[in-house]
Amino acid sequence: MLNRVNRVAVIGTGFVGSSYAFALLNQGITEELVLIDVNKDKAEGDAMDLNHGLPFAPSRTKIWFGSYADCQNADVVVITAGANQKPGETRLDLVEKNTRIFKGIVEEIMESGFDGIIIVATNPVDILTYAVWKFSGLPKNRVIGSGTILDTARFRFLLGDYFDVDTRNVHAYIIGEHGDTELPVWSHADIAGTTISEWTKNKQGYHQKDLDEIFVNVRDAAYQIIERKGATFYGIAMGLVRLTKAILENENSVLTVSAYLEGEYGHNDIFIGVPAVVNRNGIREVVQLDLSKGEQEKFNHSVQVLKKTMEPVLFNND
Ligand code: NAD
Repeated sequence: MLNRVNRVAVIGTGFVGSSYAFALLNQGITEELVLIDVNKDKAEGDAMDLNHGLPFAPSRTKIWFGSYADCQNADVVVITAGANQKPGETRLDLVEKNTRIFKGIVEEIMESGFDGIIIVATNPVDILTYAVWKFSGLPKNRVIGSGTILDTARFRFLLGDYFDVDTRNVHAYIIGEHGDTELPVWSHADIAGTTISEWTKNKQGYHQKDLDEIFVNVRDAAYQIIERKGATFYGIAMGLVRLTKAILENENSVLTVSAYLEGEYGHNDIFIGVPAVVNRNGIREVVQLDLSKGEQEKFNHSVQVLKKTMEPVLFNND
């Protein structure tokens, strides 16, 4: 173990994977970065290209185009491989295709002797995180989906923009499925410790319909971006870097990730987006928000939709 350094392996160097590698390098988060893809030329080309940026990077990162054997000493494996959403396709449409791809990928990762943390970003992310947990046999705390990390970021950005306050001072969560049934937790949204209704009290120009529209724009952001440029990748790439940093630096940071529920929020045996404390061991604990009645009902619906979608697919793959 002497001289061990942090190693991250990325499986799938498409739009999301390569943007993640680029952001990781620019923030100097890991000493080693392995790129793996079924399209070897793409991964090799990315490794070459990223290496040429090293003289401008904040710290040294060893980057190479690798194979699954390199996962053996990886601390974190990030899976961004698989099919992405085509215009008009929902994330849930991808379930069968990507579950099949994931079975092969996870088998190869585990055959290497890997014993770290797996982050999943491929959609439908909540279902594929469950699949990785099942296929890998890893403890539940060491399998983390990107969940609603990006949706929460979009929410905080749009609220900060609307109220003209730094987005980092806006604390508000999107929970549930990373997809059409996700929900905003308005009951716990605050700006610098002040609830939204307190913030808007006695101020002109703020309307409930604008807040409702903000959530719709969060929920539908992927569709809007895919319509314009075919895929979304920078936002999720930065979210994945944030998550990787929270793990490698043992931060105990609260992030909305896809975590396994065992009674929290009244549900069991599902990975779904909730706030959770993340550190070097993965998910330390799920943060339980005291949801309003309406929020709890929407969350229950999100759980039901996920379970209904995954049952026929996942339980055939055991
Ligand atoms: P992409 O098509 O650009 O990249 C996918 C990559 O996976 C390709 O390079 C492909 O060669 C590789 N791949 C396919 N099968 C593989 C296998 N068996 N082994 C190794 N590599 C394999 O797609 P993208 O735009 O990068 O999106 C990737 C995934 O991320 C999609 O499922 C997309 O929906 C998802 N995504 C998630 C979020 C989120 O918030 N979680 C946001 C954006 C995109």
